[in-house]
Amino acid sequence: MRVAVVGAGSAGTVCGCLLKRSGCNVDLFDRAQRPGGRASSRLAEGLFSFDHGAQFMPFTIDDPGLQLILNTLPGFEGKLLPMSKEFGLVGPKGGFVSAQQVGSNVDDVISITGRDFFGAMKLKGGYMYTGHPTMGSIWSTMCEQSDLGVKGNSLVSNLSKTEAGWAVHGSNSLLGEGYDAVVLAVHDTVLVSQVLSEMTHSQDSTKDFVTPLNDLALKIGGIQRSPLYSMMVAYHNKDIEDVSFNSAVVDGCESIQWISKNQFQNSEDFSCWTAIATADFSKTTFENESLGDNPQTKMLADFEKCLKLKVKPVYCKTQRWSQAVTSNPLALNEHCLSFEPWRLAVAGDYIGKNANLESAVLSGIQAADRVLQWEHGV
Ligand SMILES: Cc1cc2nc3c(=O)[nH]c(=O)nc-3n(C[C@H](O)[C@H](O)[C@H](O)COP(=O)(O)OP(=O)(O)OC[C@H]3O[C@@H](n4cnc5c(N)ncnc54)[C@H](O)[C@@H]3O)c2cc1C
Repeated sequence: MRVAVVGAGSAGTVCGCLLKRSGCNVDLFDRAQRPGGRASSRLAEGLFSFDHGAQFMPFTIDDPGLQLILNTLPGFEGKLLPMSKEFGLVGPKGGFVSAQQVGSNVDDVISITGRDFFGAMKLKGGYMYTGHPTMGSIWSTMCEQSDLGVKGNSLVSNLSKTEAGWAVHGSNSLLGEGYDAVVLAVHDTVLVSQVLSEMTHSQDSTKDFVTPLNDLALKIGGIQRSPLYSMMVAYHNKDIEDVSFNSAVVDGCESIQWISKNQFQNSEDFSCWTAIATADFSKTTFENESLGDNPQTKMLADFEKCLKLKVKPVYCKTQRWSQAVTSNPLALNEHCLSFEPWRLAVAGDYIGKNANLESAVLSGIQAADRVLQWEHGV
């Protein structure tokens, strides 16, 4: 079976690799060159390594099968390690309190700050895992071990279906054709909505299908995404050796909600940290960026206060994620949408309830499952 997977974020990469390993002939398209999407990493100046999107993978659901699946997925084995226990709460002017001191676990930190960071800490007993050595390495290892390359620089503008199968279109060129099935795993919900609307007008559509699908297309088109900034900052180890923790929720700070050391990526000389901006600060700055607002100055000043640093970093850069967080996911009980008559599946973090990395991975697993069911006629 030939399958096109569009979008090589965590959902698309997991899906593509599972299909490839089950014998499908898979093309994995992404507008970027490497897999990972919002859970990717960056190596700056060949020296400084950061997870600039997702920092950790939460296990929020009580699903014993999930860990098993993750441990057997190529790329996850040995690549997803528990985050350091040196986690807690830090005030805007420093003063770290470990999670153990605040209460029994991270839930207590959240109940104090009122911040639920990507649904990670809602449930007692939830664990946070991080990529080893980087988040990005999970997806690239998974692709390597599944012998699946990303067809990078492929910005997909539409899909079409004829008797010869599915075709994948870029804005000026045909990117691929003759696919038996498509998995649409992009965070661009406008594109997803457009494809679904077009399918309702196609000859393949039955009347029963059209109304619910139009509703779904409308709902997906109405999904809202808000921006986030993540600041990557590196110091000489000797300049930061007094900092006693690895990651913390920041309480009462205008610009930063979370700081985390990139646990497994630090060299003998440098310590690399990522700070995630608050939603409000990101939104306001994003809207006023064209007027010259620059998030980095404020974020760095607040970061230095939190960590009580007097020295300047050796590297600092801010990444702008324009569509970082989904505030109104579809919150379905399913993790993916699938339309068997068309052999089209839709995957991504916004379909389930939590809109986080876990949700995206589960979505990719489920989408692969659906495609394989079509292939085997079950
Ligand atoms: C700064 C930041 C911090 C975060 N921290 C956490 C965290 O600590 N824990 C957590 O659980 N979650 C976190 N998240 C959320 C998490 O990253 C996402 O929920 C998850 O990565 C989504 O995966 P996805 O595959 O659904 O989407 P994405 O990762 O967005 O993947 C979609 C892919 O589709 C590609 N694409 C889009 N449009 C097109 C197109 N037209 N043509 C071709 N390719 C296209 C994109 O390039 C991308 O690779 C964070 C997000 C951000 C931005």
